[in-house]
Amino acid sequence: MPVEPDVVVVGAGTAGAAVAALCAQRGLSVVCLDRRPLSESGARWLNGVPFAAFDVAGIARPDGAELAGAGHGFQLVSGWQGPALKFVRETVPEVDMRLLVSRLQGMAADGGAELWGDCRLLSWESGPTGCLVETDRGQLCPEWVVDASGLAGARLLGQPVPAPRDICAAAQQVRRLLDPRAGREFFERHGVEPGTTLSFAGVAGGFSVVNVWMAEDRVGLLTGSVVADGQPSGLQLLERFAESKPWIGEPIFGGARAIPLRRPLERLCRGRAAAVGDAARQVFPAHGSGIGAGLVAAAVLAESLADGDGVEGYNLRWQRRHGGVLAAWDLFRRHSQQLQPDQMAAMMKAGLLDQESVLAAMEQRLPVPSLPGLLGKLVGALRQPAAVLKVAPVFARMAAVIGLYSRYPEGAEAQLRWAGRLAGLFGEELDASWMLHGPLTAAGSGDKSSL
Ligand SMILES: Cc1cc2nc3c(=O)[nH]c(=O)nc-3n(C[C@H](O)[C@H](O)[C@H](O)COP(=O)(O)OP(=O)(O)OC[C@H]3O[C@@H](n4cnc5c(N)ncnc54)[C@H](O)[C@@H]3O)c2cc1C
Repeated sequence: MPVEPDVVVVGAGTAGAAVAALCAQRGLSVVCLDRRPLSESGARWLNGVPFAAFDVAGIARPDGAELAGAGHGFQLVSGWQGPALKFVRETVPEVDMRLLVSRLQGMAADGGAELWGDCRLLSWESGPTGCLVETDRGQLCPEWVVDASGLAGARLLGQPVPAPRDICAAAQQVRRLLDPRAGREFFERHGVEPGTTLSFAGVAGGFSVVNVWMAEDRVGLLTGSVVADGQPSGLQLLERFAESKPWIGEPIFGGARAIPLRRPLERLCRGRAAAVGDAARQVFPAHGSGIGAGLVAAAVLAESLADGDGVEGYNLRWQRRHGGVLAAWDLFRRHSQQLQPDQMAAMMKAGLLDQESVLAAMEQRLPVPSLPGLLGKLVGALRQPAAVLKVAPVFARMAAVIGLYSRYPEGAEAQLRWAGRLAGLFGEELDASWMLHGPLTAAGSGDKSSL
């Protein structure tokens, strides 16, 4: 007999497990499945996630072993040599994703959701009143299907794969600290305490970073780059950096994967299916951070389904409340992807890349310039007019994008026209045929074998 839950969630990583947990807490019956074992689902490394994302999603903040680091200093260096922006206290804690995923899955199970690891999705289709999902564990007939299967997942909405220049190849590893004295000297040479995160930005193209921190017996490394810009991958950057520092030893844990940097899908639902997390491109584009955005989107989705507003309600609420910030930062990401370290240095000198804008980016929000900050920018702008001339139109388009998202319309046809205007602000042709056309079946979403 087919099982008939309210919701089937495909993918049990952070976004999918959060959807399962938050839907179950609101009284919906849920089956959440993952093609990997549950103990291997989702991200398996350390990620920076603002506490605010947990608060907005209504999920308890991480603590204990899950909270791998908080309150440390942060220094952004342009290229390998600087100039640098120093932050006394980093506001974004490091969270152990292995433990967060496991906590979210536990919350889902405690709320009554069924979690199926090692489960293959064979096919699915969406009808007017419900869906039919075939898995290698049997048939499910849910009211709603949620695609939380990540960038390389099932693409249940038929959503297009982002262009290669909109994909970051990232790696994160925690390694053994072999020589604490040499490690300390490295940080001191850069003028910071050893507990600080040193972030070398623009070392392999405008969108690239090598972050390094050390603790008592460990070193943390986070790298990312855009390979389509002719750069080495995040993993290559990480390995090269570690090999060049004899005080850094073998990996203890970590991983490497692609992250979508493109702005979120212009429509997060189709038929009775919704997308969330990386599957919906809900990633903060300036540094490829998807955990916080995925948790918040999971809460909006659960709220909409429980309120009876369905996936259309989710789409409307999320786009209006949260879409603009991610899309606006995507414009900034595209601009900064083309910068050389000396141009980034010029932006720092002009005050265009200052403490407030970097903090805002780290906290995944819009900057709130103070009056002294604005005056400082004006003075800096007079000193670095070329940098200002380049970035001013980007800021203007960011403001226009925020305004456009606040007016996100109801109805698929109006949303298609809206997406056309948005594409114009990005200087693109609209390719949104997937938003309206094609059968809502696994085959309709492209290659059936990709399921
Ligand atoms: C090295 C690295 C560092 C990062 N650092 C940060 C950071 O500091 N901060 C931050 O916020 N983000 C960071 N990110 C991004 C973040 O990890 C992702 O945005 C996040 O993991 C996306 O979560 P998700 O649940 O949407 O997708 P995923 O984590 O990809 O989970 C999707 C799940 O779906 C399953 N699945 C896929 N296809 C199917 C299928 N057909 N059927 C069933 N199951 C399927 C997969 O097995 C997987 O478990 C980083 C990413 C990388 C690679």
